[in-house]
Amino acid sequence: MQKITVAKGDGIGPEIMNATLAILEAANAQIAWDEIEIGEKVYLSGNTSGIDKVAWDSIRKNKVFLKAPITTPQGGGYKSLNVTMRKALGLYANVRPCKSFYPFVNTKHPKMDVVIIRENEEDLYAGIEHQQTDEVVQCLKLITRPGCEKIVRYAFEYARLYKRNKVSCFTKDNIMKHTDGLFHQVFKEIAQEYPDIQSDNWIIDIGAARLADTPEDFDVVVLPNLYGDVVSDITAQISGSVGLAGSANIGESCAMFEAIHGSAPTIAGQNIANPSGLLRASVMMLNHIGQQDVAELVKNAWSYTIEEGIHTPDIYKEGVSKKQVSTTEFAESVINHLGKKPRTFLTAEYAKDVKLNIPTYQRKKPANKMLKGVDVFVDWKGTNPDELAEKLTKLNSDIKLTMITNRGVKVWPNGFEETFCTDHWRCRYEVENGHPAAKQSIPELLSNALQEEVDIIKTENLYEFDGVRGYSLGQGQ
Ligand code: NAD
Repeated sequence: MQKITVAKGDGIGPEIMNATLAILEAANAQIAWDEIEIGEKVYLSGNTSGIDKVAWDSIRKNKVFLKAPITTPQGGGYKSLNVTMRKALGLYANVRPCKSFYPFVNTKHPKMDVVIIRENEEDLYAGIEHQQTDEVVQCLKLITRPGCEKIVRYAFEYARLYKRNKVSCFTKDNIMKHTDGLFHQVFKEIAQEYPDIQSDNWIIDIGAARLADTPEDFDVVVLPNLYGDVVSDITAQISGSVGLAGSANIGESCAMFEAIHGSAPTIAGQNIANPSGLLRASVMMLNHIGQQDVAELVKNAWSYTIEEGIHTPDIYKEGVSKKQVSTTEFAESVINHLGKKPRTFLTAEYAKDVKLNIPTYQRKKPANKMLKGVDVFVDWKGTNPDELAEKLTKLNSDIKLTMITNRGVKVWPNGFEETFCTDHWRCRYEVENGHPAAKQSIPELLSNALQEEVDIIKTENLYEFDGVRGYSLGQGQ
């Protein structure tokens, strides 16, 4: 018997969770659960995180969490519980299968069957933001080698386990050569370890456009966090109804399973919500905890029910559907069909006694790291970069002012007067002729800047790693 944690959530949450648990019980899933309270009530009690210690303890003890959607109250101060949980529990992989159920559920893409695997912990979701000048704010995009290795390996392992043929990587590494470049680089490295699985890489813009147009050309898609967030919603939407898709958030020790949709407050309490998203998430959970037989039983009974045209109002269509049913009637119908196999959809068959093989990250031998200079970010209200350069050249030592950019575009030397400039200037100091910079040259530079009344808001060291430049050039440099 596997102990899990269950949260019935807000809005339609209790209705779809009760339906799901009734089906799991009828299918004889070997689970017992602790129920916790999260979401709206907890937020409104004054806890801005939406979750209390008792709930955290239950999830951390049971390590498997089946979660109904929650309502985040409108207005400031409330933190997204999903983002907090993913990061606090190390749930690095967000897995969202998006399949169409044509001809039984209407869709423009009858052949689509795509699994989106989104990195869940880093990228712009690190939440590190600063206002630096009157005119400029920044958000740090952090991409790490361990983060990339874990998610990309997860995607290939998933493809192998679920007999998928191809893994596609979406990045924007033509622009973000270091951050997205690392994600793509790791993808190329790990793809070589899986010669049985095809792999390809897409620049995110055209990749996303093609995915929305011809999703049948894609199989498994792995993406950094922000792109994955956007693309997975689009993919789920074009597969049919938001009420149908489930998702898994997987970590090294814990895992969380939920429908992709929200708490749908406008239809709450009416017994009309579609429980399929949460039910399909619970099938992913059963697979995760090694109860593949029950997962197959539930999935097949669900597919059979959809094929029978027994549909909740969100997917009911005259001429296609046969019977419009309530949430509870749909659950009863799935229960009555336990043991049946679908006739049009593929019968579910899940690999047994096989686990995804994701080795713990091993830190690589540190590279030879050489300081080559520093980018100094300056708050300056002038408009002519030559004037700023004159002021800053006075601070030259073994590192010398080589370039000034504004919003990344080179404005000195030889800038264009057409370039629009804000009050935020990136001033690059570098060593000449390949030597390392002296460590004390940066604090000396800062101290001299103080004397000259230069308003430095931030510095970023410039390094080479094993002789390879670890920083981007200025645009136009
Ligand atoms: P939503 O997904 O709740 O609803 C969008 C539309 O889809 C609505 O028309 C709704 O009626 C319909 N819908 C959603 N699920 C359905 C189902 N199972 N059956 C039938 N129809 C369904 O999105 P929203 O209205 O933008 O958000 C409502 C609340 O949910 C907000 O407070 C939001 O913060 C929260 N939310 C929570 C989660 C989560 O807990 N994981 C995710 C998204 C949104």
